[in-house]
Amino acid sequence: MKTGQDLRTLTKAIFRDHILANGVINLIKKCWESLKRNGIEEIKIMNFCGTHEYTTSHYGIRNLLPEGVEIIPGPGCPVCITPSYYVESALRLARDGLVVYTYGDAYRLPAVRTVGGCRSLADARMQGADVRVVYSFLDATADASTHTKPSVFFGVGFETTCPAYASAILNGRIPENLTMIIAGRLTPPAARFSIERVGTVSGVIAPGHVSTIIGAKPWDFLPSEFNIPTVVSGFEPIDVLVALLIILRQLLGKEARLVVEYSRTVSWEGNPKAQKMLEKTFDVVDAAWRGIGFIENSGYSLKTVFRNYDAFTAYGLSEPSEKEWKEDLLPGCICGQVIIGVSKPTDCKMFMRQCTPGSPYGPCMVSYEGACSIWARHGGVKKLVGV
Ligand code: SF4
Repeated sequence: MKTGQDLRTLTKAIFRDHILANGVINLIKKCWESLKRNGIEEIKIMNFCGTHEYTTSHYGIRNLLPEGVEIIPGPGCPVCITPSYYVESALRLARDGLVVYTYGDAYRLPAVRTVGGCRSLADARMQGADVRVVYSFLDATADASTHTKPSVFFGVGFETTCPAYASAILNGRIPENLTMIIAGRLTPPAARFSIERVGTVSGVIAPGHVSTIIGAKPWDFLPSEFNIPTVVSGFEPIDVLVALLIILRQLLGKEARLVVEYSRTVSWEGNPKAQKMLEKTFDVVDAAWRGIGFIENSGYSLKTVFRNYDAFTAYGLSEPSEKEWKEDLLPGCICGQVIIGVSKPTDCKMFMRQCTPGSPYGPCMVSYEGACSIWARHGGVKKLVGV
């Protein structure tokens, strides 16, 4: 009998097999030739997950595709889209003496306005604040249970991360000294927003991780309303290549359907238990996305009954309303356009000049899921890698 580790190794071996990859690429090329004979000169396929962008860039998939087939990164990075005022609020609390728990990628996330000379939680720690990097929310709750200092957890994330917050709240596992800044966001509303702005998307690679929770069903609006072939894909190179092939075949057949390529993990309905926990814990509200503005029904807000866990309520901080919200990027940073796929990282004049992974100026250069960071580390530009 195979163990979980054996199966993971086997899956990786199959989904990274170069002979199989070559076969799929040849089919993509044949499909593209047929599309060109039908008068199509160029197509844009958008992904909505930083990990898909990583796979695409890291494995040089853009370089393997025929001229005219373009993959553009969409809003798939929760750190990139966390508004600056959340960082500024965490900085204020850190400087007021609270212990601040944060994920590693949010630790370096730069704010627009400095607080006491600090632009990020990393700066605050250097100035002596008690900022602790954790791998998970459970690590934060476990650590906060070992002391009595007032503490706050800086929780960014999409539908994949938020069930862990909901579970801890519903099961009473949050120590009394711990409150939360939750910048939880929902991805389908941002996908709709991006598609409406970009306007010329021919296919979508929908996120695999998020869909394990919400299911494939919420992506059905892309084919049904926008007539866009959509594939929920896994994260290995052959997953992405097969997703591209499915999209091209649908374009050739002049059809638009939702297909789950990542069927080894994603179901149509998703994880009902996690969905129930999210429903019990959060209201879905209009919410701000960094560099973009408010998107309808795109944010999780703690229900009134759980407001005692909310750091904004506990410490008298206020979240700006839609009217008060203002663009929250530093001058010259075009992350707002990069996030929704209107611009590429290399369109930014600061890319790999004033803004690098070692010294990020804008939010998309911070996280391993940010498009600018991925392109900087792995070469998202076509013909940059391996030539
Ligand atoms: Fe923003 Fe830096 Fe990306 Fe330019 S390169 S869009 S400054 S994160």
